[in-house]
Amino acid sequence: MNKVAGTSRNVMLSPGNTTGPNSPDLDVVVIGAGPYGLSAGAHLQAKGLAVRVFGEPMEFWATKMPAGMLLRSPRIASNISDPTAAFTLDAYEAVSGIEPKKRTPLETFVEYGRWFQHQLESCLDKTSVTTIRKENSIFRLELQSGQSITTRRVVVAAGIGPFQRKPGVFARCAPQQVSHCYDGRKIAEFRGKSVAVIGAGQSALESACLLHEAGAQVEVIARIPTLRWIGMHPRLHQLGPISKMLYSSHDVGPAGVSRLVAWPNLMRHFPLSLRDKMRTRAVRSAGAPWLGPRLASVKISTGRFVVSAESKGEELQLKLDDGSERRVHHVLLGTGYQVDISRYGFLPPELTGEIRQLDGYPDLGSGFTSSVPGLHFLGAPAARSFGPLLYFVAGTDFASKELTSHVMRQPVKS
Ligand SMILES: Cc1cc2nc3c(=O)[nH]c(=O)nc-3n(C[C@H](O)[C@H](O)[C@H](O)COP(=O)(O)OP(=O)(O)OC[C@H]3O[C@@H](n4cnc5c(N)ncnc54)[C@H](O)[C@@H]3O)c2cc1C
Repeated sequence: MNKVAGTSRNVMLSPGNTTGPNSPDLDVVVIGAGPYGLSAGAHLQAKGLAVRVFGEPMEFWATKMPAGMLLRSPRIASNISDPTAAFTLDAYEAVSGIEPKKRTPLETFVEYGRWFQHQLESCLDKTSVTTIRKENSIFRLELQSGQSITTRRVVVAAGIGPFQRKPGVFARCAPQQVSHCYDGRKIAEFRGKSVAVIGAGQSALESACLLHEAGAQVEVIARIPTLRWIGMHPRLHQLGPISKMLYSSHDVGPAGVSRLVAWPNLMRHFPLSLRDKMRTRAVRSAGAPWLGPRLASVKISTGRFVVSAESKGEELQLKLDDGSERRVHHVLLGTGYQVDISRYGFLPPELTGEIRQLDGYPDLGSGFTSSVPGLHFLGAPAARSFGPLLYFVAGTDFASKELTSHVMRQPVKS
């Protein structure tokens, strides 16, 4: 294996670490260049650490979200955190001459992330990481380019791609007839086709709108008895200072819970059962309120689920739990994600076996540390330990500051 180029040590090391002939190439490697990875890289770099962020910037947002999508999160909760708070969405729009909109279009957010990445300069490498191995107290990473690199710490900020939830009932259908919202199929290719959208969350409902508007015949099939909308109690948002006491600006979770969710370090100390209750309540299936009117002429079947699905030539035959049948050209699964870190292809089983887990989520301590010294997780995998804010871009501020302060305080223990 070649060693990666350009890793000469010209920067300060973490306190408590020592250099020597066996010193690793880097202090910290971040895997993933989405909002969490870019933000963590910017904060760590500002402390003078030798850091490298691997991955194609904003790849998930640019290639896996449907064109025409609007961000569900409010503007203030869509800033990617940087150490000077200068690289905000507002700042990007101002320098790019873009008129700020109440709801941020996907394309603007992707370009914002790509603008944000420029502060990382040579710390960003678009190569993917293929494997991590632990060699005593350091990590060796193999890269898709064929090179390898060593580092004292690894921060996994690799998103939710491998965690797609696909109900087993569709397992035997022709693969081209069933896709997950994550597959990022072009909505326009469904014009004139019939599509069953499974699910009742934001992904499912927004995809149903976009498909319908693109000329597909759409039916939403959802288990829950009636569709839910985020912000179902608008009056609670209009009570001035009282609303501020009930909701944080991130707007993750219902009244009261929203305030607690905004304090991930407090959440971490709640019993797991209470944390789980608040987490599942905060991110239960619901659509943004502006989707309701756009779905007015779309067929919605709630309280129903598919019990069997079979490919019949160009079409799929679906049987529902009430005995009714449907014939459609395509099934789009808006069935969400289930975190399971063993599905990250770059984590070999011997390493995941060492990570203490809570049903697929890593059990994390302060500084987002896992039970493997020097191995950290950010974003969705951190949500079981730190609460649901970590599922959203709004969590980048807490995550990057907490991680960086931990890295600066604590040398890696073997
Ligand atoms: C339909 C939908 C709508 C959403 N809307 C919102 C919203 O409005 N507001 C909000 O805050 N959140 C929203 N989210 C949640 C959103 O996914 C997260 O907020 C955000 O993407 C988390 O950032 P991240 O950096 O953890 O993950 P990602 O954005 O997924 O970034 C991780 C990156 O890591 C890369 N990667 C993976 N493996 C490797 C590897 N081996 N080597 C190198 N790179 C790798 C991936 O390619 C990916 O680009 C939405 C999610 C979905 C599915």
